[in-house]
Amino acid sequence: MAEEKKPRREAPDPNSAKVKLGNIAADAYTQAQLAKERGEKIGWCSSNFPVEIPETLGLKVCYPENQAAAIAARGAGQRLCEISEADGYSNDICAYARISLAYAKIKEAPEQDVPMPDFLLCCNNICNCMIKWYENLSKELDIPMILIDIPFNPDYEVSPAQIAYVREQFWAAIHQLEELTGKKWDDENFKKVKERSGRTSRAWLDATSCACYTPSPFNGFDLLNHMAVMVTARGKDEAVDAMETLLKEYKENHEKGVSTFRGEEKYRIMFEGIACWPWLRATATGLKDRGINMVTTIYADAFGFIYDDFDGMCAAYSKVPNAINLELSRDKRIKLCKENHVEGLLVHTNRSCKLWSGFMAEMSRQIGAACGIPVVSFDGDQADPRNFSEAQYNTRVQGLMEIMEQKKEAAR
Ligand code: SF4
Repeated sequence: MAEEKKPRREAPDPNSAKVKLGNIAADAYTQAQLAKERGEKIGWCSSNFPVEIPETLGLKVCYPENQAAAIAARGAGQRLCEISEADGYSNDICAYARISLAYAKIKEAPEQDVPMPDFLLCCNNICNCMIKWYENLSKELDIPMILIDIPFNPDYEVSPAQIAYVREQFWAAIHQLEELTGKKWDDENFKKVKERSGRTSRAWLDATSCACYTPSPFNGFDLLNHMAVMVTARGKDEAVDAMETLLKEYKENHEKGVSTFRGEEKYRIMFEGIACWPWLRATATGLKDRGINMVTTIYADAFGFIYDDFDGMCAAYSKVPNAINLELSRDKRIKLCKENHVEGLLVHTNRSCKLWSGFMAEMSRQIGAACGIPVVSFDGDQADPRNFSEAQYNTRVQGLMEIMEQKKEAAR
């Protein structure tokens, strides 16, 4: 029998945003490895630690959350989670933490290797699980940990007292890093990093807001991949270029009436929560096959860090998603739903992330009521494949689609 020939895929355009963004993410690991080989001290850093600090000091850092996501997306989440569980870590602990703690023990994973750290940068504006995870890394690897405490903010604005509290800690962290690594802080360099971070953020916010067009010029699953650059590299020249290219492409897509969403966009939803990395294909296909485009997510708003000075940076890191109250979190999402003409909300109840998923039931109820849209949730996990059921996911997405269809018909 003649062998069926697979259609040859065209080589991706090296000047496309997708390739540029992919290169930045991969290059971060290479640069950290090269720095390590040169004998420089390198760090592991939590995702909402102010990236401007290591960037201004010229320090290379890796992000264990990104590494864990890559390991999970490439199919090894369960293997690494089980290594941690065998060491006594509960299956209830965040899977990113379990994967990272396992990696610190075995020190290699072909799915995504990173150089071992000489110091740890931790900030609890994302969650308190992060503190225990990094404390254990610090103990196991016998390396210093720098911790910044950013309190949960019950208000809409960041008070001068909170800015002062955070400012002193940022400076203490800078001085600790200068001592540890021999690198020196330079105000002029900080200004350049801040400007690049602002330009990257502006382009990201403008690109993601192109979802206001119908059809949206992009498939929202693209954002889940691109946000790694916003988390780790927004202060770099290459990130400015890549995000400005992304914005240009989305504008051109809109002008030409095309989209990276394959197929007809029949329904538009907001996706709430972290992606199910081990089940990315299943979750994307379950939407695409029904003509549902996830046009927005809170990440479209969360990684826009635009500020004027050092105090502005302190305020910006005090307003990241997991550090703010339910009402402000809700209002940010309502704005995204309204601006992007969202017709339904799909909530990932993420077993790993207690903080995020804990108040999501009430928040999503309020968003649904304010926007007049149906809300459906499914159980999953960002990195542990055992906590997801494809059948349950498809049943919930089907239900969401049917309600959106009924509403459309009633409006005709
Ligand atoms: S996924 Fe949730 S629990 Fe895990 S580190 Fe991030 S914020 Fe913390």
